[in-house]
Amino acid sequence: MPRTDEPAAGRREPVIPAAVQGILETFWANGHAAYVVGGSLRDELIGRRASDWDLATDARPDRIVELFPGAVYENKFGTVDVRAGGETYQVTTFRTDHDYGDHRRPHHVEFGDEIETDLARRDFTVNAIAWGARGTPGGGRAGRAALVDPFGGALDVERRLLRAVGEPTKRFEEDALRMIRGVRLAATLEFAIEPATLAAITDRAALVEHLSGERIGAELGRLLGARRPSVGLRLMADSGLLDRVSPELAAQRGIAQNKVPGEDLWDHTLRAVDAAPAARPVVRLAALVHDIGKPATAADGHFYGHERVGADVARAFLERVHYPRAVIQRVVALVRQHMFAYEASWSDAAVRRFIGKVGRDMLDELFELRMADNAGSGLPPDVGIAELRRRVEEQLAADVALDRGDLAIDGDDLIEELGVERGPAIGRILGRLLDRVIADPALNERPTLLLLAATLVEDES
Ligand code: ATP
Ligand code: MG
Repeated sequence: MPRTDEPAAGRREPVIPAAVQGILETFWANGHAAYVVGGSLRDELIGRRASDWDLATDARPDRIVELFPGAVYENKFGTVDVRAGGETYQVTTFRTDHDYGDHRRPHHVEFGDEIETDLARRDFTVNAIAWGARGTPGGGRAGRAALVDPFGGALDVERRLLRAVGEPTKRFEEDALRMIRGVRLAATLEFAIEPATLAAITDRAALVEHLSGERIGAELGRLLGARRPSVGLRLMADSGLLDRVSPELAAQRGIAQNKVPGEDLWDHTLRAVDAAPAARPVVRLAALVHDIGKPATAADGHFYGHERVGADVARAFLERVHYPRAVIQRVVALVRQHMFAYEASWSDAAVRRFIGKVGRDMLDELFELRMADNAGSGLPPDVGIAELRRRVEEQLAADVALDRGDLAIDGDDLIEELGVERGPAIGRILGRLLDRVIADPALNERPTLLLLAATLVEDES
């Protein structure tokens, strides 16, 4: 195996945090091989801010725990969490993978003794580089620390290329997630996928059907954190991965939109996702699915009711990729509400009703989504919302009642003061009181509301 002892032209020694260097030194001093590996080393070589430094060693897990007081087993695959300099680092014993029975992760792992075999099981050449040294039996390291780069990963870093380690088709057959990781990394690193690797993805895209929704969802989440997720999403669509990940989104391709000339619904979605703030993952996700109901409602050319249909389609998709319930609820609500149409003629009461309907917590995300949607349509982002935003803020600042919790009376008052029976009537009465208070905030006083409620109780009985 080639070992690069001298940094080649254009390449340099990686800069490793002192705490990580300290962990390496401890391994070496005790006669073990130890290296930094994976995404953090890759990022450092690219010149991106590296985080989550991972280490690999020939020391077995029990030995790692012995060498580092306070270290704990992370999982049954030989990963140990080591604390140093106030941070936790994952240290993994060299592995050789076996048994890819069903296009997913291997069923069991075997420990290895060589960094080269550990690197050979990794997905892309840029992720299959290590920096470190072997140990010597008497303690101390064998030679100076150096890059171990058997697959030409450093050159691919320079060329900004994602290339599968080994034979791409075989590697994607072993674990189909690597294809999704490929398009995800293309977006987050802003790298191209090497042609043979991309051809193999296109060829084997259907294997994605064997993956669990969780693993797909996790990579999708990372993809959406990219500066321009459209880079990865487009690769997904063009390679056929999207047909398996979300046929609902794949169906957006070729659906005409009279927004940006020459662009279809899928192009609109991608523009919207890129325009949504990277720091607001819920808004990014909502932008991805905001028009997911359009293909099913395209028949009349107007996508009538697409936000209602879309809410259900989005829910089904997000459940399939196992997003947390709170995330699904929020995204579905954003899809459901994204078609609001403000007009300057709205009364203050209409603005308050809007706030009450959307919910105070969600307003900001809904506006962010609309701005992304506007940008996706080639419009200035705050078209149709700049004034609404201002008027909403005015109402919020006035501290008027906007939801049932703001009313001067609650369900207990209805029960105790008016003898209403516990049950759905309580909610109905409070809802009607809220309508009145939203129209006229001055009504929000206990005696007034009890008096109004008394007349409503009559209606209920
Ligand atoms: P990021 O910087 O976004 O974390 P990463 O490449 O570090 O990207 P991780 O999921 O943290 O991604 O994985 C760490 C390393 O483990 C990768 O760099 C790669 O070497 C290896 N790896 C992860 N998943 C796979 C896989 N499915 N098949 C082969 N190797 C993998
Ligand atoms: Mg990582």
